[in-house]
Amino acid sequence: MAIREIVFYPDDPLTRKATPYDRIGPKVAELARDMIETMFAYDGVGLAGPQVGVSKRILVLCEPDGEPRCLVNPEIIEMEGSAVSEEGCLSLPQLYANVPRATRIRVRALNEKGESLDFEARDFLARIIQHEYDHLEGLVFPDRLDVMTREAILHEWKALRKQLTATAKV
Ligand code: ZN
Repeated sequence: MAIREIVFYPDDPLTRKATPYDRIGPKVAELARDMIETMFAYDGVGLAGPQVGVSKRILVLCEPDGEPRCLVNPEIIEMEGSAVSEEGCLSLPQLYANVPRATRIRVRALNEKGESLDFEARDFLARIIQHEYDHLEGLVFPDRLDVMTREAILHEWKALRKQLTATAKV
């Protein structure tokens, strides 16, 4: 297992649409393990393939006190309700904003072994899945905000990223 490097916004492939898996082999399980380890190392609750430089439709997540899970080729087939809550992202660390999300979703996906999943998720879990799913579509949470707020937060990120890079070089 290995901790992978996190890609910062807007570096490639974060703004690209990720491609689906047509076959789930041992490499997918290995990537899922690495992504789970990376997510835990950075105290995240979710992580998507593009965030570790893999432009494939895979994400991992873990609710507080829950078991880590992997979703491959996920599809959100139902969405209901709306709530606003604070979100952050490992690809834009230290930035937070109130993001509107559906409160109940139905998801179809495969797991890292290629088994079919079909389940409902609510509230926090639904939020994590929608956030990570957005990464597979080349979107980040500021893209879910109104134009003015998005501009302001991305401006803030530019300055913050410079600082983070400078610190990392010391
Ligand atoms: Zn994110």
